[in-house]
Amino acid sequence: RLQIVLASRPEGRPAPANFRVERAAMPTPSEGEVLLKILYLSLDPYMRGRMSAAKSYAAPTEIGAVMEGGTVAEVLESRHPNFAAGDLVLSHSGWQSHVLAKGEQLRKLDPAAAPVTTALGVLGMPGFTAYAGLLTIGQPKTEETVVVAAASGPVGSAVGQIAKIKGARAVGIAGGPEKCALVRDTFGFDAVIDHRAPDFAAQLAAACPEGIDVYFENVGGKVWDAVFPLLNTFARIPVCGLVAQYNATGDFEGPDRLPVLMRQVLSKSLLIRGFIQREFIAQRPDFEREMAAWIASGAVHYKEDIVEGLESAPEAFIGLLEGGNFGKLIVKL
Ligand code: NDP
Repeated sequence: RLQIVLASRPEGRPAPANFRVERAAMPTPSEGEVLLKILYLSLDPYMRGRMSAAKSYAAPTEIGAVMEGGTVAEVLESRHPNFAAGDLVLSHSGWQSHVLAKGEQLRKLDPAAAPVTTALGVLGMPGFTAYAGLLTIGQPKTEETVVVAAASGPVGSAVGQIAKIKGARAVGIAGGPEKCALVRDTFGFDAVIDHRAPDFAAQLAAACPEGIDVYFENVGGKVWDAVFPLLNTFARIPVCGLVAQYNATGDFEGPDRLPVLMRQVLSKSLLIRGFIQREFIAQRPDFEREMAAWIASGAVHYKEDIVEGLESAPEAFIGLLEGGNFGKLIVKL
């Protein structure tokens, strides 16, 4: 079996040399275990955090350990009463071709109900992140303006579409004309702005004539700078991710903006609230029911970007942090 392990910790942008492909013997399951063949591996921005030794909400991946990740797998051999060979399951098995798993850690997938890859995207962790963060913290109301960046990705696209379902105006930010067209035409956002445009901040202001009531923060950096002056009194800011700075090294450039930020937090009664999706796990059944219905009714669309072969995972992942993906990034093994 093939495994991709963390060879070294990156300084700034990860490089292919930070990963190593290894071969290992095929294991055999003990009582209560199943042998899985991984079919699909999800690549997600949080993996950059696991590559770093910096203190975070989850422990780093050890050097030499298999890279972590959500997977869809087929049961090859089962010694657990609830699973049989041929079953398809959702597991957290990481960057490898085969693995032993305990039955309790698996969830059976029904390929007749939805394409199994959606369990890694719109019906999985990223879709749930959008749902829980937007509805619990963002609380969009009719006619309000909701802004989200990385709007062609699995989190951002779900944020905008759920905002629309709740009667709000959705303004997306994405990189490049192709992604912007998808956000506007397929995901149905009311407006979309290319963050690479030289007059990006002015375009965002023009797209938000009533200001911004909910900013779902996925990226930070210059997008936050453009959003900040447009925030309305009582704006809500679920802080979900800061992908623009995941590859940053050392101190950030520029003046100390904290006093200005704090003044606005006070004078505009801003709510800035970070979250990790797992804290809202009690909402997961509601999410699965509602999201499945929204997809079935055509209220929510999704796009997947599927690359072939486990060996392509490092390069695809490096690209993900810079917008190289076009939709939910998944590796097909
Ligand atoms: P995406 O598939 O959307 O990929 C990340 C995207 O970020 C890129 O495609 C790129 O899109 C955009 N991006 C990268 N750098 C910049 C930049 N400098 N400025 C603007 N945009 C940039 O990822 P996900 O949907 O999986 O994740 C979105 C965010 O949600 C991430 O920050 C992630 O860490 C976070 N997250 C948080 C969770 C939580 O529990 N808090 C759980 C899951 C995700 P483009 O080309 O359009 O710029």
